[in-house]
Amino acid sequence: MKKNCVFCGEGVKDKTKEHIIPQWLIRLTGDSNREINLGVNYPKQDEWVTNPDSFIRKFSISSFQFPACSKCNSDYSKLENDTKTIIEKLLNKKKVNIGEVDTLLDWFDKVRIGFWLGYYFLNKNMTSITPQFAIAKRLASKDRMLAVYHYSDISDGINFVGVDTLAFQHSPTCFGLRINEYYFFNLSADFLFSKNLGFPYLANPAYITENNHSSLMTTGELVKGKDKVKSRILKREVLDTPVQFIQPIFKDYLGVDSNNDVYKDNDYVTRNSLFQNEGKGAIFVYESGGRYTGIANRNFEVSNNIDDLSIDVSLEEWVRKFSRMVYDYQIHMLTYTPSIHLLDKATQKSIRLQLKNAKKHNKLLMDFMIEKGHF
Ligand SMILES: [Zn+2]
Repeated sequence: MKKNCVFCGEGVKDKTKEHIIPQWLIRLTGDSNREINLGVNYPKQDEWVTNPDSFIRKFSISSFQFPACSKCNSDYSKLENDTKTIIEKLLNKKKVNIGEVDTLLDWFDKVRIGFWLGYYFLNKNMTSITPQFAIAKRLASKDRMLAVYHYSDISDGINFVGVDTLAFQHSPTCFGLRINEYYFFNLSADFLFSKNLGFPYLANPAYITENNHSSLMTTGELVKGKDKVKSRILKREVLDTPVQFIQPIFKDYLGVDSNNDVYKDNDYVTRNSLFQNEGKGAIFVYESGGRYTGIANRNFEVSNNIDDLSIDVSLEEWVRKFSRMVYDYQIHMLTYTPSIHLLDKATQKSIRLQLKNAKKHNKLLMDFMIEKGHF
């Protein structure tokens, strides 16, 4: 299996190594030489029964790295440096501003897609996919969300939830990350929140194929939004927390159809955008009463005052709740996909089967992880 650059997706030029978990984050969360649990070891499936240790893949945290072009790697070093400062602020209970939240959301896109490609390589492409994108193409290209939770009664460390599932390999929309006392839930998909945030959105999305049947494209009708925020934004609730950020993204759709450009001369979009020419909407923050308010001022500071969940819940229970949210959300996201009715019957059948297997797998994995206490 050829390993292309994790950033540009092309053949690697002037090879360097990109750490999927960046080195600053490895240092922030413990010993740089420690071994970590890197999920279910699918290629060793035949040995699981005779050698139970082969079920979970363990290796040195600093060797979780993949090839990248030298230029691509340095292009992203600013994002890493900026994010390091922002994460340190969060960990020290300092306020962050809306511009920093935007950077943090970019970084979560980077890490999420990094994990997806990493596991694609590690599991030797178990879902037989053909990656149509690498990190660069998926950074700030789809609506996204981040929810933050605080659990103080835990030792420093890092964990990731849901990155090794079939559902995630199928479509990397959702995962969980723990950094020391903080748990982050990250979600991203095309037009996931746009309609409910009053933004333009794609009506009747459907998959079509071009010549190559493995590469699906989405079609639909781009329509103007309702110019107001609905009372309910999320199609499925997340665990309660006051720190939730939601951002509509329209980069890939700017000027997509010049006769009917729903973003151009759209006052609502202009008022509710952070960087309109980059297709980045405002950050919608969670208010008491469950409403979300759009903030387009980059310097606006948001509170990082999060209840400490360890007062009420045991660590085991909390981790189980958080992990279940991720696994269940991944299953839910498999239903949030464009319609397959325009595809030929064979492709429809194969997609249905893939989704069915991915759902079954997430349920099995969740039960197995709980039974074995692998959290
Ligand atoms: Zn590259």
